[in-house]
Amino acid sequence: MDEIEALLPTVFLSHGSPTTPLEDIPARRFWAELGARYRGVKAVLCISAHWETRVPTVGAAVTPGTIHDFYGFPAELYRIRYPAPGAPKLASRVSALLNGAGIPCEADPERGLDHGAWVPLLMMFPKADVPVVQLSIQNHLDPGRHLALGRAIEPLRHEGIMIMGSGGAVHPLGYADWDPYSGKTDRWAMDFDKWLTRTVTSGNNQGLVRYREVAPYPERAHPRPDHYLPLVSAFGAAGPGASGRMIHHSWYMGDLCMAAYEFDGTDENTDKKGVIT
Ligand code: ZN
Repeated sequence: MDEIEALLPTVFLSHGSPTTPLEDIPARRFWAELGARYRGVKAVLCISAHWETRVPTVGAAVTPGTIHDFYGFPAELYRIRYPAPGAPKLASRVSALLNGAGIPCEADPERGLDHGAWVPLLMMFPKADVPVVQLSIQNHLDPGRHLALGRAIEPLRHEGIMIMGSGGAVHPLGYADWDPYSGKTDRWAMDFDKWLTRTVTSGNNQGLVRYREVAPYPERAHPRPDHYLPLVSAFGAAGPGASGRMIHHSWYMGDLCMAAYEFDGTDENTDKKGVIT
């Protein structure tokens, strides 16, 4: 992409495990292609599963550090740095949008980038030259409120900002077999994944919000919804009438689904949808 489109889609991707930078898996190749398509964006606003706060909080550091928020993994992972610049002005804009929507927001001038952000960004923008700002999920873990959080930041789609949720489409860590190349995926994981794709592609926002009641095996697919909520916020950020399209699908460690989606809502002013090629 040479120039910014007037209206960007929003994105959800599954970041897998902290070890993905060491592995040759399909999702990594996809992240590189995704970054190439979004090359011209002004900044990335990343809603990561790995930053959870009581009040929505935006990272406002000028030079965010790299947070190695995992334990017991190979030493080389702890040497990885992702030195993308921050974007304090964008952080202020996010705060203003949320506050304007009646959602109190705090800024954290010290916060770095957690692995939910830097693991995919390493492949998407390997030169670390695209500014990155993170926005937290909230520890009430309520899907409806995370949809509203996304809705509030929708105007950023018009401003050249890539809104990216980073979590996991199916994220049952207790069930994963820790073999990145395992081909053994359980039926319940496939059932949840198919439901998610159907729900996203049909634009069923109430289904997404009420997933615990209407999806198959919600407690197995997401024992905790922290990796699900970034998808809900990214969907919300695509605006009214949003629907999604799958842009990647693979399985990892057996039951972890690495699906990614792009979301578009209809722009009320132009009646157009965001397109990026
Ligand atoms: Zn994670």
